[in-house]
Amino acid sequence: AAEEVENSCACVILQCRPGVENEPTETNFAVKTMEVPLINEGQCLAKTLCLSVDPYMRCLMNEDSGVGYLTSWDLGKPPSGGGVGTIVKSRCEGFQEGDIVYSFQWPWQEFVAFSGDDAQLSKERSAFLCSNPSLLLGIVGMTSLTSFLGIREKAHITPGANQSVVVSGAAGACGMAAGQIAKLDGCGIVIGICGTDEKCCWLTDELGFDYAINYKTSKNIREEIKLKCPAGIDVYFDNVGGEISNEVIRCMNPNSHIVLCGQISLYNKDIPYPPPIPDDVQEQLRVKKISRDRFLVLNYMEKFASAKEQLEAWVREGKLKYRETIAKGLETTGYAFVSMMRGGNIGKQIVKVAQTM
Ligand code: NDP
Repeated sequence: AAEEVENSCACVILQCRPGVENEPTETNFAVKTMEVPLINEGQCLAKTLCLSVDPYMRCLMNEDSGVGYLTSWDLGKPPSGGGVGTIVKSRCEGFQEGDIVYSFQWPWQEFVAFSGDDAQLSKERSAFLCSNPSLLLGIVGMTSLTSFLGIREKAHITPGANQSVVVSGAAGACGMAAGQIAKLDGCGIVIGICGTDEKCCWLTDELGFDYAINYKTSKNIREEIKLKCPAGIDVYFDNVGGEISNEVIRCMNPNSHIVLCGQISLYNKDIPYPPPIPDDVQEQLRVKKISRDRFLVLNYMEKFASAKEQLEAWVREGKLKYRETIAKGLETTGYAFVSMMRGGNIGKQIVKVAQTM
């Protein structure tokens, strides 16, 4: 039966920009009321179930995103990003009431009208994921696709070679998956770097990382890595950049590889991407022939479907573990974003907007 849809609903808008050199705050966002969109022939109406907040959104808050393929968010309008929902009304072929759908262009609204031929809108067919829709934004979504494809495309892992791996931002969405996938693909020692002792314990006790380093309390990250892995580092999955990454690179072996995933420690700075690195580190890359190509998951879209299948299988087999940090209610979306940028999340930060039913 058609679900009763109210006339008005909530949305979150970008109220003001933080300024390129400042930390974003909750006051950059505001909650508004809007009319539930009416749909025309060829459209469908989705009720938002979950939203994703992600580090790349920081540059969308600036007037100029600084990134060619990303358009900044408009002031006074709902931002958009990854989202998943359920169809509540349909006037288009291909989508029916009750379908679970997701898009990487999901506005921060309780109800959203999509065009039936929107190339971004995908219908989920796995019963497991339909009953666990938030996984489509994390462990079986864009962040794990990033880890999986980053490793497969840029880490040069040889099964049996026992390569040693460091992951920074290790207790976040990409990081938790990267360390586990490195192990599943046959790496040796995996070390995670993250910002709290609780996160460190989770990595080693539950996710199978061999060691974890708290960068906020460590006296010397380089020495700690050398102590834990005297043979040097073969693969570095870099989520954070800055001084943490400089220290890791100084421990890397000749002919080793960096997966240049992200540089979150520098996102509140007005500098180009990828940010410049110190001369001595640049020299290490050159002398030791360490690869450090820019990696962008969106360049591998043709591999998403098979990668997603593998990720779902690993999750269902219990081989790929995860955690979600959940903020409840659409009005918490701005808070959830700001909190994630400051390390408030363990695993994937999700905003739960509504229940499935
Ligand atoms: P996370 O879930 O990892 O959340 C961000 C985490 O970053 C926080 O939890 C915090 O954890 C850490 N952090 C924040 N500030 C700093 C800092 N100054 N120094 C070190 N760590 C910090 O986010 P995602 O998994 O979504 O993203 C991780 C990275 O992957 C980002 O750099 C992002 O841009 C990148 N990315 C790249 C993609 C690509 O195609 N290349 C696609 C998707 C993501 P802690 O407590 O440890 O500080």
